[in-house]
Amino acid sequence: MTQHVTPETPLSTETGPEALNRPAPVTEVVTRWRVSCDGDDAAGLGHPRVWLAIAPEAGYVDCGYCDKRFVIDRAHAHDDDH
Ligand SMILES: [Zn+2]
Repeated sequence: MTQHVTPETPLSTETGPEALNRPAPVTEVVTRWRVSCDGDDAAGLGHPRVWLAIAPEAGYVDCGYCDKRFVIDRAHAHDDDH
C-alpha cells in the first residue's frame, strides 16, 4: 500500500543554474511620489535624467531607460519636500 512514498527527486529546472545568470531587477524604495532617475553612472549605465511619477494605484513606477523600479513606501511617503 505504501510503496510509493519515496519523494520525487527534484530534477525540475526551477532552481537550475540558469537562474543565476539573470540579474535581479533593481528596485529602490522611495518616499516621494515623484522621483528622478539618471541610471547608474558609476556602473557606466547612466542615461538622461528623467522624472517619474508613481501612480498611487500601482504603488510603483519603472524607469523607461534602465528598467529600474521605484516602489513607494506608503508608510513614509509625503507629497512634497517642503
Ligand atoms: Zn533609469
